[in-house]
Amino acid sequence: MNEVRCLNCLKRFEVQPKAEEAACPNCETQYRISWPRPDQPKIRGSI
Ligand SMILES: [Zn+2]
Repeated sequence: MNEVRCLNCLKRFEVQPKAEEAACPNCETQYRISWPRPDQPKIRGSI
């Protein structure tokens, strides 16, 4: 599951595979995404 936890609203949401940016569908905060592993996205910070 390519999911991250939003740092703003703490809800989990799915990230497209290998995406470098993603927006939380709940609060619309945009994040930069990194991939420590191919199946594990991680939020690097807000845009
Ligand atoms: Zn959010």
